[in-house]
Amino acid sequence: MRVLLVEDDPVLASAVRDYLTRDGWAVDVAPTLAVARGCMPAPYVTVVLDLGLPDGSGLSLLPLFARQPEPPAVLVLTAQDRLSDRVRGLDAGADDYLVKPFDLPELSARLRAIVRRRAGRRTPTIERGAVTIDPAAREVSVNGRPVELTAREYALVVALAEAPERVFSRSQLEDTLYTFDGGVESNIVEVYVSRLRRKFGRAAIRTVRGIGYRWDAAGATGAEADA
Ligand code: CA
Repeated sequence: MRVLLVEDDPVLASAVRDYLTRDGWAVDVAPTLAVARGCMPAPYVTVVLDLGLPDGSGLSLLPLFARQPEPPAVLVLTAQDRLSDRVRGLDAGADDYLVKPFDLPELSARLRAIVRRRAGRRTPTIERGAVTIDPAAREVSVNGRPVELTAREYALVVALAEAPERVFSRSQLEDTLYTFDGGVESNIVEVYVSRLRRKFGRAAIRTVRGIGYRWDAAGATGAEADA
């Protein structure tokens, strides 16, 4: 899952980036409005948006985000004393806000709630047949047995399983896994898909010929012995 962090304070930005990366997010940081505009279009699930930026107010980006083919959810970061900013942000289309200074676990929890609402999910966990994903704990199990996953494997499973009817192209999955800074190795999606098939079952991820991949809940029956 990809998130754009628009924040000009480098210390705060790197703390947030490090924290969210451990949560399985691929984080791009934009320190100015101009850099944030240059990041579009990109498949961000959410944008974490500071308002006081060197080249203007973060609120001015909201119309641009709203015009994206799949508009990201926007969480606005506001200063303690700027109630009017919060009201204006929400009125202008922001989905949530957090008052600085904030705790990283709270930011992380709010992003999970945003993702859940976007997916139309009422429960905190993602249940797909034998597979249960608990985003708060970052735990995945098949038939109740925990599955060990790297941060990128986890991000890929969440993206696929959250939208099981959707076919993802290879480049869409690459976009889910990588930030602009991270070089994408060729065939990396195939490598991860094959690792996930070993952990969840060969039929857990269907290849849709000529288009890409989709999650198949019925096929996710657990780890396979090496053939
Ligand atoms: Ca700022």
